[in-house]
Amino acid sequence: MRSGLVDFHCHLDLYPDHAAAVERCERDGVFTLTVTTTPKAWLRNHELASATRHVRAALGLHPQLVADRAHEIGLWEELLPQTRYVGEVGLDAGPRFYRSFETQKEIFARVLTLCAAAGNKIVTTHSVRATKAVLDMIEQYMPPPRGRVVLHWFTGTAAEATRAVDLGCYFSVNVEMLANEKRAALTRTLPLDRVLTETDGPFTQTDARPTMPSDVWIAVQGLARLHGLSESGVESMIIHNLKSLLEEQV
Ligand code: MN
Repeated sequence: MRSGLVDFHCHLDLYPDHAAAVERCERDGVFTLTVTTTPKAWLRNHELASATRHVRAALGLHPQLVADRAHEIGLWEELLPQTRYVGEVGLDAGPRFYRSFETQKEIFARVLTLCAAAGNKIVTTHSVRATKAVLDMIEQYMPPPRGRVVLHWFTGTAAEATRAVDLGCYFSVNVEMLANEKRAALTRTLPLDRVLTETDGPFTQTDARPTMPSDVWIAVQGLARLHGLSESGVESMIIHNLKSLLEEQV
């Protein structure tokens, strides 16, 4: 694995030209995990990613879509043996999605249970206004010996971050997590050996356009500033963390 940037949570199939977005990650050498919001999207994502060295596709069922698409869990289960990467999954207790929260919990429990049974999965997880519930469910259904969770865009407390670390979690950090003093203070508490970077593109903006995976260097820069480290030091640390995560056999 040569040195490069890491975007461990991005939605390449939601850019206007999906194939071009994949090609760009490959050309720029950005190790990109492209997540899916429905299992129906995974096959095409996997097909495009499989032809590259830098892109991999995660099999997801987004909590914000569970209200309408809970029945797709059957297809998700069918596809699971074909991939080590899972996401976007998780819980969203925000006002727009709270109505489906009980169904979201059923789906997420099923996802974690099946990942734990299979072993060695890497699960990129959404936890908006639901950090405690997500951590409770990881503890119950997929404790550290059974798989790895990467908490995407973590917004919990310092105590919850410590609990997540004890549960073996990694954190994929984006620029929004460095955007003000309060968020940066929380991000600073995350252990550096558990930190990856992400864009969550195209749902975030850079220079008034959708963020591209190669823009993830701005998060690297922010982390370097936050910890008083060099950018190249942070860049190689993130690659090292990615390597550790991928080489762990759980
Ligand atoms: Mn996302």
